Amino acid sequence: MNIEKNSVVSFHYRLSEVGGEELESTHGDEPSLYLHGYQNIMPGLEQAMLSKAEGDIFSATLAPAQAYGERRENAKQRVSLKHLANKPKGKLKPGDIVGLNTAEGVKQATVVKVGLKNVDVDNNHPLAGKSIQFDIEILSVREASGEELEHGHAHGVGGHQH
Ligand code: ZN
Repeated sequence: MNIEKNSVVSFHYRLSEVGGEELESTHGDEPSLYLHGYQNIMPGLEQAMLSKAEGDIFSATLAPAQAYGERRENAKQRVSLKHLANKPKGKLKPGDIVGLNTAEGVKQATVVKVGLKNVDVDNNHPLAGKSIQFDIEILSVREASGEELEHGHAHGVGGHQH
């Protein structure tokens, strides 16, 4: 069957910046699973999945607006080191990705400058303003169960676990 609303799709992907190196991959790991038509994946990616079938291999290039959004100017912020939700091991340095506690949960930010007690970060998502490419391999397409439709997401390996 072809992917349409209420399909549950299992797929492998590689994510890279257009012309750049690989950033994420599910190959060698569990594939991803999602319920089509419920905005459970990035809108541009969901659009590219429509009508594809098991065994299909294709690439989808997403402009910033369809992916992580445009870069915002004035997105710099000074935060106390102790308010970082997570940070890499060792001494922080510019370019490191850290987590910030915000009202909407933990958000990623990029370190711009490190002080003794504070750190200046850029709140733009590291991939904001960038075109990204997904290399997709569709592994299986099936109809969603009644329970999945009720919950609005896919169940099982790579999907939602209860
Ligand atoms: Zn559920």
